[in-house]
Amino acid sequence: MKKLLFFIFSVFLFSSCQHNPYKLKTYKFPKPVDTTTRPIEYQVKKTYEIGDVSATNEFPSARLNDFTQIDDSTFQATINAENVPINTSPWYAFKIWSKQTKSVYLKLYYVVHRHRYFPKISYDGDNWERLDSTRITLTPDSLHAILKLDLTQKPLWIAGQEIQDHRRVGEWMNQWKANPVVTLGDAGESVQGRKMFFMDLSKGNHKNKPTVVVISRQHPPEVTGYFAMQAFIETIIEKGAINGFLDKYRVLVYPMMNPDGVDLGHFRHNTGGIDLNRDWAKYNQPEIKQVTTHIVKEAKEGENEIVLGLDFHSTHYDVYYTFDDSVERKLPGFTKEWLSQIEKELELVDINEQPSGLNQPISKGWFFKQFGAEGIVYEIGDSTPRDFIKRKGEVSAVSMMDILKKMR
Ligand SMILES: [Zn+2]
Repeated sequence: MKKLLFFIFSVFLFSSCQHNPYKLKTYKFPKPVDTTTRPIEYQVKKTYEIGDVSATNEFPSARLNDFTQIDDSTFQATINAENVPINTSPWYAFKIWSKQTKSVYLKLYYVVHRHRYFPKISYDGDNWERLDSTRITLTPDSLHAILKLDLTQKPLWIAGQEIQDHRRVGEWMNQWKANPVVTLGDAGESVQGRKMFFMDLSKGNHKNKPTVVVISRQHPPEVTGYFAMQAFIETIIEKGAINGFLDKYRVLVYPMMNPDGVDLGHFRHNTGGIDLNRDWAKYNQPEIKQVTTHIVKEAKEGENEIVLGLDFHSTHYDVYYTFDDSVERKLPGFTKEWLSQIEKELELVDINEQPSGLNQPISKGWFFKQFGAEGIVYEIGDSTPRDFIKRKGEVSAVSMMDILKKMR
């Protein structure tokens, strides 16, 4: 009798803990965040002309809220956020030129925000370099940066990072169109009608394959995380097709989670004025609602078990935000082995892992709550050298494939 009661109790306990991963649910997180839509302020799109000098924000990803003259040789570019409160990550991007060749000082004025991104310059919007470090001065409060520029008639692009707008991400994706392991599509549209890009990687039929989900650009200016994701996905496409990984696994990729925020030159939020990486519990924002629904629908259709979710971001330095042992998820031991392989391969002194439990409703927590999957936030530093980002992305992909192939 005791045994029978125990059995019934166990079955009850088991069934109450399990839920159907193929049905999207809302979740409670220890630190909930209100993600209901809030107003944002749109920048006025225009070309400013002051004497010989002009500046414009009339292109995707631009951010220039005002352009004024301070004295004969000094101009001011006002850079402000879409709304507040907001993480202080002032993104800027504009073009500037002069009818007469001349040297000017340009003050980047961040209103209440603090400087974050070291300026990058370009003459075509595609080939970028860092501004010479002798040409930038920061005020002690970091509310201003002063740049010394040599202007000509040829428009000079100045931006917080290399511009990777919706069109460019789409072009990157499209170059894989003819590859037999790649299927392209979308998970719907943003509020302003931009496609929520989607790539589906698998060699042959994806049915029943354990699945990895990869996302990036929830936060518009976080281009270095996007670069790491590009190298990561390119390596999976090229090597995973021949090393057996894509025979065993399926990979779902959402490379542009916040297309409106990116093309509107936002600091962080979408047109709903919300940090999308806090909306993974209630899905108030259409971008998160559509992508989570899409992941669940794809997994259900393919009878795939989602085992790992990777979310690429940027911050001041390279770091991996992982789960600590209080969160019991699939793939025990994966993260430890993966990070130590990357560390070894790149001869790093410290891979910089920062484990924690469940906290705010971010993607990492959702991968666990919805699927019991491993979730990892892959962060790249704003100024991490671009060739190292690429190499790290490649090494990370190769190690992940090696370890996962052994696990399933
Ligand atoms: Zn981020």
